[in-house]
Amino acid sequence: MRREVLLTPGPVELHPRARLSLSGPQLHHRTEPAREAFLAVREGLRSAFGTAGEVLLLTASGTGGMEAAVRGLFSPGDRVLVPVSGKFSERWAEIAEAAGLLVDRIELPWGEVLDPEAVAARVGDGTRGLFLTHSETSTGVLNPVAETVRAAKAKNPDLFAVADVVTSLFLAPVAMDAMGLDAAVAGSQKGLMLPPGLAFVALGERALSALRPAGYYLNLARELESQQKGEGAYTPAINLVLAAREVLAVLLPVLDEHLAEKRGQNERLYALGERYGLRPVPAQGGSPAPPEFRSPATAAFYLPEGVAYRDLAGAFLRRGYRIAGGQGPLKGRIFRISFMGYFAPEEVERAISAFAAVLEELLGP
Ligand SMILES: *Cc1c(COP(=O)(O)O)cnc(C)c1O
Repeated sequence: MRREVLLTPGPVELHPRARLSLSGPQLHHRTEPAREAFLAVREGLRSAFGTAGEVLLLTASGTGGMEAAVRGLFSPGDRVLVPVSGKFSERWAEIAEAAGLLVDRIELPWGEVLDPEAVAARVGDGTRGLFLTHSETSTGVLNPVAETVRAAKAKNPDLFAVADVVTSLFLAPVAMDAMGLDAAVAGSQKGLMLPPGLAFVALGERALSALRPAGYYLNLARELESQQKGEGAYTPAINLVLAAREVLAVLLPVLDEHLAEKRGQNERLYALGERYGLRPVPAQGGSPAPPEFRSPATAAFYLPEGVAYRDLAGAFLRRGYRIAGGQGPLKGRIFRISFMGYFAPEEVERAISAFAAVLEELLGP
């Protein structure tokens, strides 16, 4: 049976360099070649995140990186602000609550773009942290993180700003230090086109000074000590680290072109959907948001009148493609289709044709 092609916003089609690397023999993690690869990946990611600080690699999915950042930078009882406008921003609130922080949630309709001034209006003298989601994969929104952090820090310069850049890193411009972020989190199975299994936690200078030992496995202070020497505190997913080095080596030198290509591919999905009358999910004040607020990570559309998600997904599967549905309150109301993974130009054309054929089958020409 031919396997299906993933048009899902994570996990994604693997980069050919990753597949090649992953077919190699097992390397022991406490050896010089392993340490070299570990340090090279930390260095490459430092440049990708745009920070003069440190990037730590954790053997976990992206959520593990989020939890490690929350526990390493905050203490129970700290007041933090979390705008909630989708599945992943909601996850920040849940992780912070589970860590005993006092969470002030700003509840927004899912799919709304953040309004920096409205967020800043909720920042107080006692607000110690602000958690943002750059690319809200559940709704396809790209949030104005730099503007929001600037407005929030204008009210309270002492707060720590932390962002989920899981589906903006390698897909949209990310420059952590320049965006005013103190920490940011990403993972391997999204824009880096690797299998799931690695989380990346980037810490700026302020976050490094504030880091405290917390937890056992997801303990960033302990990891920092080991990782400065090129080793994880435990057995890292070294095979993924080796594959990450291979992909970074080809991706970083052409990152700007890569980002432009990803944005272009995503805009083609939106153009096609809109030609068939589909309504995009990203919204600003209830109306479709301008294209700069659409995440290049995924296109997201409301399901057309009278079409069930199951039927739409089935029509894609019959053509060899898997798409994704909605989550939380958007379950059964939207679908998501993504070129986040690796697609050669002819594969992009094939997938676009399949999307057109599905829309024609369900909606008529
Ligand atoms: C995928 C994703 C995560 C992490 O999810 P995991 O399943 O834990 O890897 C976090 N935030 C966003 C925006 C994501 O898309």
